Amino acid sequence: MSRRVTHRDGIHFDLDRHVVADARSATGDVNLVSHAHADHTFGSSPDVVVCSAETAAIATARTGVEFAFVESAPGIELLPAGHVVGSSAAIIEGADGTRYCYTGDFSTRDRAYLDGFDPDAVEADVLVMETTYGHPRYRFPPQDELEAAIREWIREHDDRPLFLFGYSLGRAQKLQRLVASATDRRVLVSRTIAEVNAAIEATTDVSFAGEPLDGRSLSDLDPDDLSDEIVVVPSNQSRREWIDAIAAETGALKAGFSGWAVEDSFLYRGDYDVTFALTDHCDFDELIETVRTIDPDVVHTHHGFDEAFADVLATEYGYTARPLKRDQTSLADFR
Ligand SMILES: [Zn+2]
Repeated sequence: MSRRVTHRDGIHFDLDRHVVADARSATGDVNLVSHAHADHTFGSSPDVVVCSAETAAIATARTGVEFAFVESAPGIELLPAGHVVGSSAAIIEGADGTRYCYTGDFSTRDRAYLDGFDPDAVEADVLVMETTYGHPRYRFPPQDELEAAIREWIREHDDRPLFLFGYSLGRAQKLQRLVASATDRRVLVSRTIAEVNAAIEATTDVSFAGEPLDGRSLSDLDPDDLSDEIVVVPSNQSRREWIDAIAAETGALKAGFSGWAVEDSFLYRGDYDVTFALTDHCDFDELIETVRTIDPDVVHTHHGFDEAFADVLATEYGYTARPLKRDQTSLADFR
């Protein structure tokens, strides 16, 4: 099996040129950024980055670092990955004509303002894919069912504030859209989320209802100011004292959203009252479906259940599949 694809700092393609995807430092002849989550963007600008215009704009809004980018390069083509606004998969063609499809985080589901990744549009000999939920435990309800359950929960609790937790780029925006489709209650967002909202609003025609507190952070919220507001907060805040203090006084409830919600431990770890398996990644069946549709000669898996998923592909579906092992990935979904 080819060892041209390796997982070092990012995923490296040692072809006629050295293409590096989603690394912290830009060491490739060509450096590719699949999407604007913090671990895939550079602290300073390399010469040329291949990414979508939306990814460049959101990354700059989040990090303050301006960088030069192109949306394609010779032998490199971007495709929508359906993970967050601007997220891309890439087709990378080697000089020998071998076509590699690289996915960073991706989802095949159409959600809110995002079209899902379309495996039918991909022709590739080698598929390099993220496998965050590549274990049969992770099967999520259909999107419309999930969203209906969330809307119902929001409407059921119209007499108290609700805290909805989701990472600032992606989940937080989908939650704002879901809330707007369920109720006209006031939506407050953290400053970080407001900044991401603004970056997305500036590069797309999508808009969000959430308002930041004027010059104050959410932790300055006075329980007396809250009646039935819906507050969208980054997930790393779920165990903060200021939230528990507000909950104790107002009866506010806390909801967590992640594919990890199929595990009870997600509810306890986040100290949530309720959780929903709302995610921006494929579930197990969607990962399998992606491979079967693209039907490549070789599959490389990375992140999450990379080993288990490669094993299923090899033993149950007869694919040549190998995990691109690097560091262990923790069962965390903070971004
Ligand atoms: Zn991501």
